[in-house]
Parts: sequence; structure tokens; C-alpha cells
Amino acid sequence: MQIDTASSKNRTFRWSLILLLSAVSIVSVFRLADAFFTARALERAAGPLSLYRETVVAELERFSHLTFVLARDPFVVATAQGADTGPLNQRLAEFAVRSGLEAIYLMNEAGLTIASSNADRPESFLGQNYSFRPYFQTAIKGDQGEFYGIGSTTGLPGYFFADPVKTQDNAALGVVAIKLGLTELEETWRAAGETVFLANKDGVILLSSRPDWRYLTLGALTNAQKETIERTRQFASQALDALQWKPKTRNRSEFGGDTFLHLTTADLPNGWELHYLANTDQVTARTALATGSFIFLASLLVIMTQQRRTARIGAALKRSVAEEAQLRQANERLAVEIEERKAAERRLKRTQDELERAGRLSALGQLAASVTHELGQPIVAMRNHLVAAEIANDARSSLTVRLSGLVDRMESITRQLKFFARNDDTSIDEVDLRNVVQASIDLVAPNILETQTDLAYEMPPKAIAVKGSQFRLEQVITNLLRNALDAMSQSETRNLQISLQVNHDLAVCKVADSGRGLEGLALEKLQEPFFTTRGSGEGMGLGLAISARIVEEHGGDMTAEASELGGAEFCVSIPIIEVRAKDHDE
Ligand code: ADP
Repeated sequence: MQIDTASSKNRTFRWSLILLLSAVSIVSVFRLADAFFTARALERAAGPLSLYRETVVAELERFSHLTFVLARDPFVVATAQGADTGPLNQRLAEFAVRSGLEAIYLMNEAGLTIASSNADRPESFLGQNYSFRPYFQTAIKGDQGEFYGIGSTTGLPGYFFADPVKTQDNAALGVVAIKLGLTELEETWRAAGETVFLANKDGVILLSSRPDWRYLTLGALTNAQKETIERTRQFASQALDALQWKPKTRNRSEFGGDTFLHLTTADLPNGWELHYLANTDQVTARTALATGSFIFLASLLVIMTQQRRTARIGAALKRSVAEEAQLRQANERLAVEIEERKAAERRLKRTQDELERAGRLSALGQLAASVTHELGQPIVAMRNHLVAAEIANDARSSLTVRLSGLVDRMESITRQLKFFARNDDTSIDEVDLRNVVQASIDLVAPNILETQTDLAYEMPPKAIAVKGSQFRLEQVITNLLRNALDAMSQSETRNLQISLQVNHDLAVCKVADSGRGLEGLALEKLQEPFFTTRGSGEGMGLGLAISARIVEEHGGDMTAEASELGGAEFCVSIPIIEVRAKDHDE
């Protein structure tokens, strides 16, 4: 749970970082692209701006010397000195037409126009006094006067040059002036589809490709400026309202809600300033395209990286799944091997136990053989002596009776021992189990009679042949019968049942009794050497141990369980070699 929270926090942090980096990258790329394309656009705009500046300067310079020349013209001087104005009017009109000037005119020293190129036209300057114009005031003082203003007679704007007309002794006779219409410049700009305007040093727009901007101001005028304009009637009755614009960052300005790249050049006469406004659409489009391309490529890169990462994780997952499967298989193999090893260990232990028991039984068999052999002679001798004593005394004394009883008991013990003594005659032969069972019954028949036991047994009609030792097998069955009789010694009814059958490839011999039963003891316990429930001198606890050993030697198996008769049932199974087709009676 904690790990989950930590990893989700990590993921959130990573994604926040990625988003932040992406935003920073996009903004950086946008700014870089904008700066780049703006610089390119400014470079491009610098060309036309410089060209327009040149044309303005050239237009002014073209006529700047004309008044100087006219002021020295003999006709002009003569007219200023009082000659007839008619010929000069004619001459000036020709000049004006030829040079494309709006007007050329001569004023006397009081500023009154005495000759003019437009003398015969309605807008004639003749009789007009321009002494209030700065160009007149400068020229009458002896210098060249220049001025831009709206014509007080015509109402048309123009640029004025003026030079003093002097006598030979340098006395001012009047002023000769020309009026130059600059509106053609505006036409040129408009025709080129450009947004250009020219402002004077007060910030009043003199010329503009947008006519509605003309005579608007770039900033608020001071009172002194207003007063001068008023006095010189520079802009006639124009209101000189403020132009709606504001400068912005990155060489941009906003004019009437539209944003333009804004370039200016101030190196013009009279402190004029030329403004060039370039459209920003191209810059915006290119910047957007570059930023969009960057976002597209970056996204592509991120997607490809992500895909590669996913593929890598998938492959690693597959690898780990395969490794896990291998590990599981290895584990399963290991578990099987462990199980096999445990089974082998169990087998080994069983074999060791069996070997040990076999060894012990074999030693016991030898001991029993030697004891019965050694004790046989003395017991026979004792019996003979007792018989001799009885004959000599001609009667059985109580002593000889007691001694005779003891000898009987000793004989019984040696008989039992002899039963278990290892028989070296272990000749292996084909044995008919029916004979084995019959011989065993015969052997215990006296005891059956003595104890009044009911015996029931069934024999198959055909021989049941096994491979082994008749004598040893008789030992087994006899022992089972003796044990059964012994278990029934305290019983009121004594039933003994013997059966011999063939079950598949096994010969099965069962001995059942109605005795006290196994009392919860397992066969493993009963067949331990020297385990007995009988009293001292009655049993040695070797019968089942040796019987089990003999059955094993014959490749068979012995089991014990509760009998339907109420006591125990012992079952011996031995592999058969063949069932001979012989008669029961044979
Ligand atoms: P022993 O007969 O000398 O006691 P065995 O090895 O033949 O030695 O038998 C061991 C013990 O098994 C007996 O003491 C007895 O307690 C038990 N036993 C064997 N056969 C039977 C049986 N048919 N019914 C009840 N107990 C039996």
C-alpha cells in the first residue's frame, strides 16, 4: 500500500516535470521562432523604409536650390524693384508647370504676394500676405526658409522653400517662395500597399498612406507647440486629435486595434520621422508553424520513446514470465527429486531394518539350534535316570513325579526352541500348499482335541504349488495354529477356521479364531522378536518374527486383522507357480 502510494507520487511528480518541461520548451521555441522571424521581417522592412526615406529627402532636395536661383533671376529682382508683374507671372507659371511645383510666388518685403505662378487661377496667391509664415520670416532676414503647412489660400498641404530677393547692396526687396505638394508621396506609398506615415518633430502626422491618420498627433502637444501652430497657421483649422496607438514590446505597435511591426527613421530634415508599419501576419503564421512543427516532432519523439519503452518492458515481462516458468519447472523437478530421495531413504531404512532383523533372527536360530542340541542329551539322561529310579523303587514317589514334571517342562522349552532353530535343510522345491496345511493341522491335532476346539477348513480340489521349503512353510502355519489355540485358551467357545484359496497369482492361507483378538496391537509390534503376552516359560515371542521372515523368504506377505469369528485372522499370501491339475485325494 505504501509502495503503491510512493510510486503514484513518483508518477505524478514525473508527469508534472514532463508537463513543466514541455511548457517551458514550447514557450522557448515560440519565443525563439518569433524573435527569428521578427528579425527577418525587420530586415526585410528596413529596405522599403530606407527607400521611402530616400524619396522624401530627394523630393525636398530636388527643389531646395530653386528659390536661391530664382531670387537672383533678373526678372524677379526687377519685379521686386517695381517692374510690371505680368511677364513674371507668365514666367513663373511656365516654371511651375515644367518643374511640377504647386506654386512659385514673389512677396514684397511686407509679405504681400506681388507675382505668382497661379495669378490667373481662382486659388491665386496674388494680394495674399504671408508675413506670418515662418519661411517668410526666415527668408526676409536673409536665410533660406523652409516650412511645411497647409496652404492658407488653397487649403492644400505643401512644403515651402523661400529665399530673400536682394538689391545689389544686399538690401532685402522681398521673398521668392515655392510650394511643393508632397501628396504624390502618399500616393506612391498607398499604391505599394504599404502603411507609411511621416510625422514632424511635434509628432503631427504630415503625410500618411492612410488619409484618415493625416493631421493626427502621435503624442499630446504642449501649449507652446499649440501656440506656435496657431500663430503660423501651419495646419489651418485641423483639430490635431491624437492617433489611437500604443507601442508594444518586440518592435511592435498597435494602431487602431491592429498590431504592426513598427520601424522608424529619424534622419530626415526638420526633425521629421518616417514610420513604416509592416504586417505581422507572416511572422505570426511562421512562428505558429515552427512551434506547431516543434510540438509535432516532440510529440512524435515522445510517442516513439514511449513505444520503445513499452516494447522493452513487454520483452522484459515476457522474459521474466519465461524465467518464472523455468523456475517453477525447476522447483517441481526439485520437489520430485526430494520426494524420490525421501522414498529411497525410506526404502533404505526398511532394508536396513530388515537386514538387522534378519541378522538377529539368524543368530537366534543358530543359538536355538545349539541350545536344543546341548540340552537334548542331559534331558534324555535325566528322563532315563527318573525311569530307572521309578523301576528301582517300584513305585512313583512324589519327588520323581515332581522331577518328571520339570523334565517335561524342559522338554517343552527345547521343543519350542527346536521349532525355531535354523534348519539348514532349506532345499527349495515345488510345494503343494494343501500338503503344508494338512501336515500343520496334523501336528496340532492333539491340542485341538484336548481343547475341544471346533475346526473348520476348506481345501481346494487342485494342488496349489509354490516354490519353497515344505518344512519351513509348515513352521509358519503350525505357529499360526498354535497361536490361535493359545488365544482361545480362556474362551468358552473355540472356533478355528482354516482356508486355502487362489487369488489371481497368489495362494492365500487364512487362519481365523474366536480368541481374545489382537487387542489393538499392530502386526509390526507382534512380530518383533521376543514380544509376547504369554507367561514365562509358555512363549518366547519368536513365532511371528520367524514366520514373517519365512514368508518373506518365499516372496510372500503376512497381514493380521480382526476376525469375523471374534478373534484374530492371520493371512499369508505366497506367489503361486502353477496350479497342478491333480486330484484332491492324490
Ligand atoms: P508367542 O506365541 O511365543 O507369544 P508369537 O510371536 O507367536 O510368540 O506371538 C506373539 C504375540 O502375538 C502373542 O504373545 C500374542 O499376544 C499375539 N498373538 C499371536 N497370535 C494371536 C492370536 N491368534 N490371537 C491373539 N493374539 C495373538
